[in-house]
Amino acid sequence: MAAVGAGSVESPFFDIPGTDEEVMEDFERITRNAREVQLETLRKILERNRDVEYLQRHGLDRRTDEGSFKACLPVITFAAIQDEVERIADGDLGPVLCAEPVMSFALSSGTSGGKSKMIPRTEWSRQQIIKAGKITSLFRRRAFPRKRDSDKPVVMMFGYAGRQFETKSGLKAGAGTTNAYRSAGFRNSKFTPFEMASPFDVVLGYDVAQQMYCHLLCGLYRSQEVEQVGAIFAYMIVEPFRLLERVWRDICTDIREGTVNERVSDPEIRAAVEEILSPNPELADFIECECAKGWSGIIERLFPNVLYIISNFSGSMLPYVAPMRHYAGSLPLMNGAYGSSECWIAANLDCPGLADSASYTIFPDLAYFEFISVNRDSAGSEFVEDSENNIVGLTDVKVGQEYEIVLTTNAGLYRYRQGDILRVTGFYNSTPKVAFVCRKNVVLSVNTDKTDEEELQLVVEKASQQLKEANMELLEFSSYADHDSQPGHYVIFWELRSHEHLDMGLLEECCTVLDRSFNDPYMRGRAALTIGPLELAIVKEGAFARLMHQFVSDKGIGASQYKTQRCVTNPASLKILKDETIVTIRSQEFPKELLAAWHPSAKIA
Ligand code: AMP
Repeated sequence: MAAVGAGSVESPFFDIPGTDEEVMEDFERITRNAREVQLETLRKILERNRDVEYLQRHGLDRRTDEGSFKACLPVITFAAIQDEVERIADGDLGPVLCAEPVMSFALSSGTSGGKSKMIPRTEWSRQQIIKAGKITSLFRRRAFPRKRDSDKPVVMMFGYAGRQFETKSGLKAGAGTTNAYRSAGFRNSKFTPFEMASPFDVVLGYDVAQQMYCHLLCGLYRSQEVEQVGAIFAYMIVEPFRLLERVWRDICTDIREGTVNERVSDPEIRAAVEEILSPNPELADFIECECAKGWSGIIERLFPNVLYIISNFSGSMLPYVAPMRHYAGSLPLMNGAYGSSECWIAANLDCPGLADSASYTIFPDLAYFEFISVNRDSAGSEFVEDSENNIVGLTDVKVGQEYEIVLTTNAGLYRYRQGDILRVTGFYNSTPKVAFVCRKNVVLSVNTDKTDEEELQLVVEKASQQLKEANMELLEFSSYADHDSQPGHYVIFWELRSHEHLDMGLLEECCTVLDRSFNDPYMRGRAALTIGPLELAIVKEGAFARLMHQFVSDKGIGASQYKTQRCVTNPASLKILKDETIVTIRSQEFPKELLAAWHPSAKIA
C-alpha cells in the first residue's frame, strides 16, 4: 500500500482476490452488516483456536458463541499474557496463544513494566493488513485520480527499517514496519502498488540522519515523478523538511554534480544512491531558486505532481499539522490508518478529510472489537470507567462517547485492552467511525493531579500562542514530572526556533501561563504547595532529533514508528533533554488571590 498509516506496511503484496469493484462491493456488504460480521469473525477466531491452551485454561471448552466467550474470558492487559509470549519466544511451538504458527513478534511502542510489549504476529495478521490496505487505497484512488500514467505511483516515503533481534526460538522481533521492511520479498516484490523514490538500501540503513538526507535527496532528484509524500507518523515528514531548511545547498550540489554528500558514510546507502543520480544542473537551479524563496508551500512548489501528503496527524501528532501545512501549501494532508502492533483496526476513508480531526472507519472483519465506555473525572483529566454495563460491542457504541478499545484477534489476543482512548464520531453504514483521543497511560502526575497527553498538548498550545509575536516558534515539546525536588513539579521542555534572540520576558510569561492552565487537582496542589513552581526548560535546536535517534537506536524500534515522547520517563532520554537545556525558567509564585481560590480550605463553587 502506498504510504499508509500506522502499522500498515507489514507487506506490500496485493494478493487479494477479486476486481476492484468486487472488493468495494464486499466492503459495503460487511459494513452494512457489521454486527453479523462481528459474530462471524468471533466464531471463526474461536473455531480456529479451539484447542489453544489459553482458551482451554479459561474453560471455554471449544465453544464459539459470544455469550460463552464473554462469560469465560477476562478482559486483560499485556501483563496477563506476558508469560505465554515468553514461552513462544523461547521456542514453545504448541498452541499456546493461537493455533497458527507465530511468524514474528512486533515490538510495540507501548510498554509493559517498562519493557516493550512483544506481540505475536501470524500469517493472518499479514493478510488482514493487505486486505484493509487494498480497500483504503481504492478509496484514495477514487478521490485522487493520478496525474501520471506510469505503472505505479512514485512515493517519497520516509521509511526506516530499524533493527530486528532474534528470540531464543529464532523468531524475528522488531517494530511492525521493521519486520515488514526486512521481510524476504519486500525489496523485490513485483506486487508492490507503489515505487519508493529512494533505493530500498536507504530504508534498510541503520542511521536515521543519513537515511533522512538520502530520502530528501532522492525524492528531490525524482521530484517530477513523485505523486505522494508520506511517512507513517507526521513527525517523520516534518523533520525531513526542517532538515531541508538546513541542508538544501548540499542537496542542490549533489543534484547538480550527481554526487552524494560526505555526511552519508554508510557504503551501501552511498552506493545505492550514487547509482540513481547523474548530474542535473537545471533541476538543481530550480530547487535552489525555490528554496531561496522561503519554506511556505515548498512541497507544492517542488513536486508538481504530488496529489497529497499521507501520514497520521492525530493524537500526539496533532502539533505537526501546522508545520506540515506550512510546508505543504494547498496540498491535502491525509490521515492514513489507525492500528497497532496488535492489530490493524481502522482507516481514514474520508478523502481528504480534515487533517486535525481525523475519523477512522473500523473494519468489522479485522478482529472482534469491544469498547469500555470511559468518562472524564470532574477535573476532566482522568478517564474513569463507567461502573455498569460498561463494555459494549462494535455496533452498540454511541456517537460522542469515549471508549477504550478491546481486541480479540486470530493471533492470540483475547479481550485485550489496547490502551487507546477513542471517541465515536459517527458511522459508515453500521460500523463506527472513531477519532483517536490519546493513549490512556501517558500522564504527568506529581501528587493527585493527573495530566493526560491531550491536556498537556492543549496547555502547551495555549501558552505558546504569543511566541510568534516575538519571532519565536515552538518546534517540539515534551515533559516530565520531577519527583526528586521538594515538592515535585512539572518540567516542560520546549525546542524553539528563534529568528532573533530568545525573549526571556516573554518566556517567563509563557511559563506562568503553563503553570496556571492545568487541571483543578494540579491547581489545588500548587496552592497547597504540594506541587512546586513549574519549570520551563528551553533546549537547543535539534535536541528532539537527538532524542529520536537515541530512542530508535536503544529500543531497536524502526524510526518510521517513532512518536515524540510527550512525557519522558526513560533516564537516557531525560539526560539528553537535560544536557541540551540552554536556559530554565521557573514560574512565579501564585498571587495571593489565586492561592486563596485554590487553597484546599477554599469552598469549591
Ligand atoms: P505500535 O504499537 O508501535 O504499533 O503503535 C501503535 C499505537 O500508535 C496505537 O496504539 C496508538 O496509540 C498510536 N496510533 C496508531 N495509529 C494512530 C493514528 N492514526 N493516530 C494517532 N495515534 C495512532
